[in-house]
Amino acid sequence: MKVFNTLSKKKEEFIPLEQGKVRMYVCGPTVYNFIHIGNARPMIVFDTVRRYFEYKGYDVNYVSNFTDVDDKIIKKAIEEGVDSSVISERYIAECKKDMEGMNVKAATTHPLATQEIHGMIAMIEKLIEKGYAYRADDGTVYYRTRKFKDYGKLSHKNLEDLQAGHREIKVVGEKEDELDFVLWKPKKDGEPYWESPWCEGRPGWHIECSVMAKHYLGDEIDIHAGGEDLIFPHHENEIAQSEAANDCEFAKYWMHNAFLNIDNRKMSKSLGNFFTVREISEKYDLQVLRFFMLSAHYRSPLNFSAELMEASKNGLARILTAVNRLGELLPAAANGEMTAEEKVVCGQVKELVEKYEAAMEDDFNTADAIAAIFELVKLANTSLDEKSTKEAVEYVKNTLDTLCDVLGIITEKKEELLDADIEALIEERQQARKDKNFARADEIRDILATKGILLKDTREGVKWTRA
Ligand code: AMP
Ligand code: ZN
Repeated sequence: MKVFNTLSKKKEEFIPLEQGKVRMYVCGPTVYNFIHIGNARPMIVFDTVRRYFEYKGYDVNYVSNFTDVDDKIIKKAIEEGVDSSVISERYIAECKKDMEGMNVKAATTHPLATQEIHGMIAMIEKLIEKGYAYRADDGTVYYRTRKFKDYGKLSHKNLEDLQAGHREIKVVGEKEDELDFVLWKPKKDGEPYWESPWCEGRPGWHIECSVMAKHYLGDEIDIHAGGEDLIFPHHENEIAQSEAANDCEFAKYWMHNAFLNIDNRKMSKSLGNFFTVREISEKYDLQVLRFFMLSAHYRSPLNFSAELMEASKNGLARILTAVNRLGELLPAAANGEMTAEEKVVCGQVKELVEKYEAAMEDDFNTADAIAAIFELVKLANTSLDEKSTKEAVEYVKNTLDTLCDVLGIITEKKEELLDADIEALIEERQQARKDKNFARADEIRDILATKGILLKDTREGVKWTRA
C-alpha cells in the first residue's frame, strides 16, 4: 500500500511499526461553533483511510482530539456569559451528531485537551530539563526552536526563511528568538487556567496534540494526519516537541488533505465563506456530502458547488438504486448453481474489486475507486435480472455493499424501530409463547434480529439491546 508522506514528498510503501496494527492520530476541530464542511473533509477522508486499513485486516487505533481550550472558545463563552466548558461541550455534542450523519466512525479515543493538562506539564518539564524550552519572566514557556536540528523537515522550510506562523498567538514576554513558540502561557482575566510550575495559565495549541498522541498511541506512531494548513507551524512544532522529548521519530507517515474551497478560496470561519455541515444536512442527506468529498483525491483541492453536489447526489442514487434492485431480486432468485455466464460475470466482478483495491492502495485514490464501483454498478444492471441465481446476485450485492462500506457509504438503511414498537413486539411475543404459538414467537424474534434488536430472556423478564 502506498501512502504519500509529506515528510519525503513521495509516495512510500506503508510498513506498520507493529505488524497488523496502525496507530493513527488526526488533529480534530476546535469546538466553538458548528463544524463547517471544510472541517468535514479531513474527518471523511481519514475515516475512509481507517476503514480501508480495517478492510485489509489491520487493527486501527484511531485517535482524534477535540481542542476544547482556545481563544475563540473563551471569546464565545464571555459573549454568552457562561463557562468555556459549556461552549466546548455543546459543540462537541453537535460535532458528534454531524459525524454520525456523515457516517464517520467514532475514534477509538476522542481525547479532550483540558483532560490532559498534567501530561502537557510533564512534557514541558522534560523539554526544559533537556534545554529545549525556557521560561520567560512573565511565566510564558517557549520552545527553543533553533536547538531542534530537524526543524523544518516536514514543511521543507529552512530556518532562515521562516517567519512565525500566522496561527501563532503573539504574546508579550521575552522570546530568545523570533522562531520560538509558546508551550505554556499565563492566564488572562476571565480565562480558564491551571496551576503549573511556571505560572497559572494554559497550554499552547501544539503541545496538546504531542501529548494526546503520546498518551493514547505511544511515543512512535504510524500516521499523523490533518488538513494541509496544519503542516506549518502546527505539525512542524509537534515534531519538534515530541522528538526532543521522546528521543525517537514521532510519526512515520504524515498525511495532509488539500482544502475544500468555495469560489476557489479556502472555506474558513475567518473568511466567513463557509457552510456548516448542519446547513448542508437541511438540503441533502449527509451521505451525499461524504460521496462528494470522496469523488476527488484527498490531496487535490476540491471546489464546493451546487452543481457538484447535484452530480454527487445523482451518482450516489445510481449506486443505491442498483444495490436496492439486487436486494429485490434476491427473494425470488433461483437456488441452483451459477450458470457459466454468471461465472464469467463474477470473474469480471473480481477484476473490478482488484481495480478498486489498486486505486485505494495508490495513496487512497477514492476517485478511481468510485469509478470502479460505477463499472460494477453497470455490470450488475446489465447482467443480472429475474432469471439470475441467488448465488450470483448475492455475490455481486455483497461485493457492492462491502466496497461502499469501505468508503463509508451506507447501501442499506436499517429501518430504525422505535422503543415503543420494540416493546409492543416483545409483548406480542410473550403472549404468543403463552398461547404456545411458538412459530409466531420465533418469527417476532427474527424480525427484531434483522433490525439489530437482540433479546435476552432473564428472570426479570425479557431484556433487549440494540446491536
Ligand atoms: P480547525 O478547527 O480550524 O483547527 O480545523 C480542524 C481541521 O479541519 C484541521 O485538520 C484543518 O486543517 C481542517 N480544515 C479547516 N478548513 C478546511 C478546509 N477549508 N478544507 C479542508 N480542511 C480544512
Ligand atoms: Zn493537532
